[in-house]
Order: sequence, then structure tokens, then C-alpha cells
Amino acid sequence: SRFDDLRLHPAIVENIRLCNYTKPTPVQKYSLPIIYERRDLMACAQTGSGKTAAFLIPILNNIFNNDRNEPNYVYGTNNKKRHLPKCVVLAPTRELAVQIFDESKKFAYKSRARPCVVYGGADTGKQIRDMEYGCDILVATPGRLNALLDRGIIGLCNVRYLVLDEADRMLDMGFEPQIRDIVEKRDMPRTGQRQTMMFSATFPKEIQHLARDFLDNYIFLTV
Ligand code: AMP
Repeated sequence: SRFDDLRLHPAIVENIRLCNYTKPTPVQKYSLPIIYERRDLMACAQTGSGKTAAFLIPILNNIFNNDRNEPNYVYGTNNKKRHLPKCVVLAPTRELAVQIFDESKKFAYKSRARPCVVYGGADTGKQIRDMEYGCDILVATPGRLNALLDRGIIGLCNVRYLVLDEADRMLDMGFEPQIRDIVEKRDMPRTGQRQTMMFSATFPKEIQHLARDFLDNYIFLTV
């Protein structure tokens, strides 16, 4: 099958074509029910399987189909802008976050959704200035996102799509408390009130527990 056959929005099909992707990889093909049935997803997929596009294509397809001019920020206390992304992607490392961000820019081309990236170990001021142009799709490492949530620079109340990429690696790096803070202790819409997609190379007990806590009636996919 080809991307043209998948009943996607013409704008996302065009962006996929600009990436020179002609044929969906298995994880991309089998994750399609998350578009049409708005289901949560637990996918066991390795790097190189095309998993990034597997979550970006459904999310951008929905964004293109519901492209309303919604405000993506509010003014918080002391008149500071609080950015309200509709999509948050959590990733374990700066390298992966930047990779996902680069791919987001390609798929979001000509949509109203503007991608941003924040990660630790780099200047916060520059990352905040970049968000000034709009932050609709936020790719983040957990620690830096929590720091920006603490400062009120980002709010999660409008999140409709949440992705945990390389969840097993995030747990290996000790991010579980940070992730639970973001998903369970902030203003993030509850499980079932948002669409959540988890990707992991392995499916040990710890990941099963996260899936139980963060996902609602989910599709389980192994590729
Ligand atoms: P990922 O598993 O998301 O890290 O993707 C691995 C590589 O495959 C990346 O360089 C992508 O740009 C590329 N890729 C993803 N999907 C496709 C596709 N359908 N056709 C060709 N290349 C792809």
C-alpha cells in the first residue's frame, strides 16, 4: 500500500511526499487505527522502524483536519506568556528530541501548528524565545519540561496528544518520577481525555505499569 491510499488529509500526504517516503513502514501502517478510531497506542518498535512518523502522521493528520485558529497561549501571573501546546512528545535525550523536532517541522509544513523543542543542558532563555513564535507541538526531555512548568512558561491544559518515545530508555535513565509529575501531577488532561501513544523497544513490568496508568483501552502493537 501507499500513503495515497490511506484516506489522509491532502496536506499531510503532500508533506510525506516531500520527505520522499513512498510506502508506509509496518509500524506506520498498523498504527493507523489510532487515527480513525482515536485509540491510545502501545507500540513495541525499534529505532529505524519509522516510529517517529508513525505518531507524527496521525497527529498532524488530525491537526490538518481540525485546523482551527485556537490561541496557543494565555497570559499568566505578572503578564508572562504561558504556552499551551496541543501535542507533547517526551523523549529521553537531547539528540532524540532534536531528531523528532526536525521531523515535526517537515510534517507540520503549511499547517498552523508550530513545533518547538526544549531539552536540558542548554540555554533556557533561547528555548523560551523560540517559543514566542508559537508552541503547538512541543518535543521535550522530561526534566527541562518540568522546569518550564514550574516557572509557568508552559501549561498542559490543552494537550490533546501525548507521546512517550523510547519509554524504556526514559525509565533506564531514571525519568519515571519526572514523567509521572508531568502526566499525573500537572494540569494535563486525564487518561481518556487525551490521546496517548507510548513507544518502547521492550515491554518489561515497569513499562506495563506506565501503560496501565497512562493509556485508555489501548491498541497493542509489536513490529
Ligand atoms: P525512526 O524509526 O522514526 O527513527 O526512522 C528511521 C528512519 O527512517 C528516519 O531516517 C526516517 O526519516 C526514515 N523513514 C521513516 N518512515 C519512512 C518511510 N515510510 N519511507 C522511507 N523512509 C522512512
